[in-house]
Amino acid sequence: MRDFVYTGQPSRVIFGAGSLQHLEREVKLLGAERALILCTPEQQGIAEHIATLLGARAAGVYPKAVMHVPAETAAAAVAEAQRLGADCALAVGGGSTTGLGKAIALQSSLPILAIPTTYAGSEMTPIYGITEAGLKKTGRDARVLPRTVIYDPELSVSLPVGLSVTSAMNAIAHAAEGLYAQDSNPIMDLMAEEGIRALAAAIPRLVANAADIDARSDALYGAWLCGTVLGNVGMALHHKLCHTLGGTFNLPHAEVHTVILPHAMHFNAAAAPVAMQKISRALGGAPAAQGLYQLAKEHGAPVSLRELGMQAEDLDTVVRLALQNPYWNPRAIGPDSSVALRALLQQAWEGVSPGSSN
Ligand code: NAD
Repeated sequence: MRDFVYTGQPSRVIFGAGSLQHLEREVKLLGAERALILCTPEQQGIAEHIATLLGARAAGVYPKAVMHVPAETAAAAVAEAQRLGADCALAVGGGSTTGLGKAIALQSSLPILAIPTTYAGSEMTPIYGITEAGLKKTGRDARVLPRTVIYDPELSVSLPVGLSVTSAMNAIAHAAEGLYAQDSNPIMDLMAEEGIRALAAAIPRLVANAADIDARSDALYGAWLCGTVLGNVGMALHHKLCHTLGGTFNLPHAEVHTVILPHAMHFNAAAAPVAMQKISRALGGAPAAQGLYQLAKEHGAPVSLRELGMQAEDLDTVVRLALQNPYWNPRAIGPDSSVALRALLQQAWEGVSPGSSN
C-alpha cells in the first residue's frame, strides 16, 4: 500500500428516483428561508416547478445561466440574490447552472443546494470557473462546494440521448484521469473504477431507451462517483487539452471530452499501466483507449474534432497553448512534447481509433 493523504469533503447526498420530494426538508435543514432558484433559459419549466414546491421559501427564479459563467452574468446573479434577500442558491441543471451557483457562493458565501440534471459532476467539486474577457479563470474554494445535492434520476430523463452519452463520457474522463493523478488515493481509485463501470454499463441502455429509469439511476450514480474523484484529486493532460479547446475555440464541453479522452488515454497508457488496467476492467476488458473510443462511436457520439467544427490549421495553436503551464501528467509534458501532442490532436481531429497508423 502506498502512502497517501485523503481529505473528506463534506456534502450531503440524497439519491433516488423521486427524491425531489425531499426538497423542502433539505432547504429547511440548510436553515434557509429564501432560496434563489437558478437555471438555464431552457430549463425554466423545472425551475418554476421547484419554486411551486418550495412556496414561501422560494425567493425567485433566475433563468439566466449560460455556458462558462461569464463574469457579467455572475455579477448580475449576485446582485439579484442580494436584492431578493436570498439565503441559499438552488441550482437545478447541468454544470453551467451549478457554475453560476458557485459564482454566487464565491462572492456571498451563500450555501448551494444542487439538483444536477446532467452527468458533468460539478456539484461534487470545490472547483469554480468564471470567464472574463474571453479567458476562463478557474480556482478551488471550499465555499463553492454544494452543501446538499439531490440526485433525482427522473429529472435527467429529458436530457437528449446525444448529450446523455457525451455527458456520461465527460464524467468518465474525470475518473480516468483521477486514476493516474499525482495525488490519487485508494478511496478515489475505488470510486473511479466503480464510476466508470456504472456509466459504461448505463450508456447502451440509455441509447436503447432514454426513459429507462434504472439506466438513468446508474448513470447518475456513476456521475456522482466520478464528480467526487474530480473534486478530490488533480487533473492532467486530458483536462488541459479540453480546457484549451473549450475555452479558446469555444467547442462544446461534453463533446470535446468525448473526442479527446481515448487519445489522451493512449498517450498516457505506457506511463500509467495500473490506471489503464482499472479502466479496462471497468469497461469489461477492452483496452482502455480503444474501449473508450468504441463506447463513444458505437453509441452515436462524435469521435472527431473535425465534426465539432475545429479547423485543422488551429491544431498547432492548441499544442502551443497546452504547453503553456501544463498540468502534471504521468507522461512528462515539456517543450519536447510538441510533436507527440500534435500527433495526438491530429488523430483526434480525424476521428481515427487512438494509436491507429491509418
Ligand atoms: P450545461 O449545463 O451547459 O447544459 C447543456 C444544455 O443541456 C443546456 O442547454 C441545459 O439547459 C440542458 N439540460 C441540462 N439538463 C437537462 C435535462 N435534464 N433535460 C433537458 N435539457 C437539459 O452542460 P454540462 O455539460 O452539464 O456542463 C458544462 C459546464 O460545466 C462547462 O462550463 C464546464 O466547464 C462546467 N463543469 C464544471 C465542473 C467543475 O467542477 N467546476 C465540472 C464539470 C463541468
